[in-house]
Amino acid sequence: MSITKRILEENEARGFSADDSITVCTNCFDDIGIKKFIETAASNNDNCDFCADLGGLTCNFEAAMEHIIGSIHREWSHPEQDGMSYNTKEGGWLGGVIDTWELFAEIGFEANHPDLTDLIYESVNDDQWCRRNHRSQSDDEILISGWITFVDFVLHKARYTFFKTIPQNYDMNQHDEMNPVAILNSLADMVERLNLMTLLKSDQKIFRVRIVDIDRNLNSAEELGSPPTENCTLANRMSPAGISMFYGSFEVETAIKETYIPDKTKKKKAVCGIFQPIRDLTLLDLTKIPKVPSLFNAEFHEVRHAIIFLNDFLQDFTKSISRDDRAHIEYVPTQIVSEFFRNCFIKKNGEHVDGIVYPSSKNVAHSSIVIFANNDQCRKEQTIWRNTNSQILQLVKVNDIEL
Ligand SMILES: [Zn+2]
Repeated sequence: MSITKRILEENEARGFSADDSITVCTNCFDDIGIKKFIETAASNNDNCDFCADLGGLTCNFEAAMEHIIGSIHREWSHPEQDGMSYNTKEGGWLGGVIDTWELFAEIGFEANHPDLTDLIYESVNDDQWCRRNHRSQSDDEILISGWITFVDFVLHKARYTFFKTIPQNYDMNQHDEMNPVAILNSLADMVERLNLMTLLKSDQKIFRVRIVDIDRNLNSAEELGSPPTENCTLANRMSPAGISMFYGSFEVETAIKETYIPDKTKKKKAVCGIFQPIRDLTLLDLTKIPKVPSLFNAEFHEVRHAIIFLNDFLQDFTKSISRDDRAHIEYVPTQIVSEFFRNCFIKKNGEHVDGIVYPSSKNVAHSSIVIFANNDQCRKEQTIWRNTNSQILQLVKVNDIEL
């Protein structure tokens, strides 16, 4: 076989042709995945052919292209290779097909130099792209629709026996549909895989406030800790009526914002109880869910779909729901997830989950926490409570704050 023919065949197989004498650098791209690749592939000390300023690590253009096109092929394909039908009469693909520029826009791909973006475009063999496995939902779509169906199922069809019920409209013969009830086990798998657990040390301060009239004094753990069961008359984000849990924050400002809707007509104060756990707590930490990684970030290739789903799930999980006296059924799915992690999820080392950290919906970029502790489990001193040693939190300080 001639060298030219071999090169042509190679180019065909990898989906691009590239000049290996050209050099690109980490500064040529904003995409973290491509930067990381160039850092690890950096093989020469040549100057970048596109950037005037030096300082970036460099690799040859051909290696960068192999990574870029290889990453794109994880999620995109040529319609013919993906088995898409073609209507010869009408002259068109029977499915969603886009050209390479549209693909770049779709995945947000652009180099920092127009000449380089053009060169990459010209180096790509195909100008027609469809989503890989275009006849099926992608893995993240399967999970997202699984969660949506699960929410509908437990809100409107089977709230208490859903574990043993198969949704009527679930077709188990579909290849790209999950049994919605299985979403909880999928969540548990993702939590383990992405290591979303965190340890809350026993010296960590947790703030919990109660809004009261100016002349009212509160200073006991019984008053400032989780509400007594008989007072749990309203549904909350993680706990249904009748089940007491400790809701707190890591700063007093967030604790107040989570609890108080400003009202100038009524003079009130916030009484803030500062608590500490009496032992290290194992928490599911939803603030550790990574942002959706770039298609080009090889470190996350295997978990990208899970992270896309978890980001969608988190928005739903933490969405703001108005506080009023209605029986909020919107909280039912989050209450189920919380109860699942409390009672059905045991870490590989045998530890149980003591609570959940989640982004505050009232104070952006700050977190809130729910700890699975009822009123009896919050005390002023560290005590052995009723011989069960079930105390979880101790009250260490009380502050009054004028609102
Ligand atoms: Zn450069």
